[in-house]
Amino acid sequence: MKKESVNVKDNLNVAVLEKLKAAGHRITKSRLQVLDVLENTKKALSPADIFQLTSKSGSAELDRVTVYRILEAFEELEIVHPVGNGRYIYCAHQSCGHERHFIAICTKCGETKEVGASTDFSDSLSTLLKKKIGFSMSSEFFVVRGLCKQCKA
Ligand SMILES: [Zn+2]
Ligand SMILES: [Zn+2]
Ligand SMILES: [Zn+2]
Repeated sequence: MKKESVNVKDNLNVAVLEKLKAAGHRITKSRLQVLDVLENTKKALSPADIFQLTSKSGSAELDRVTVYRILEAFEELEIVHPVGNGRYIYCAHQSCGHERHFIAICTKCGETKEVGASTDFSDSLSTLLKKKIGFSMSSEFFVVRGLCKQCKA
């Protein structure tokens, strides 16, 4: 492996870089490229989308497998969230301290937003599931589909 010298961009979330370093990941050019694409896209992206967007933007020798592996590592560190259909969004709440997060996806334009919430809503959902079907909910993360403000108008 060759050494890469990396200039970290100012706009890249410092919390993300800290997370990566704390988990023992090097800040490589490939990882930064994937982060950059994720950070600047408001829609959920598949590994193939990311591959396309990074190859458009330039230089690196990123291949699909690399993109996939990077996403796996990011998912583990909650830098990205899986939202179904093999797509991911960049976590917009890297260091906000919200206990619960909802991802709202517009089914028309694809805009995806992450919203922090109190525990009340998920607590009542959890209670309901337990009561009705004896189900113990473990996910603290929800994906909701519908229409965004612009598309609804
Ligand atoms: Zn998040
Ligand atoms: Zn929309
Ligand atoms: Zn939050």
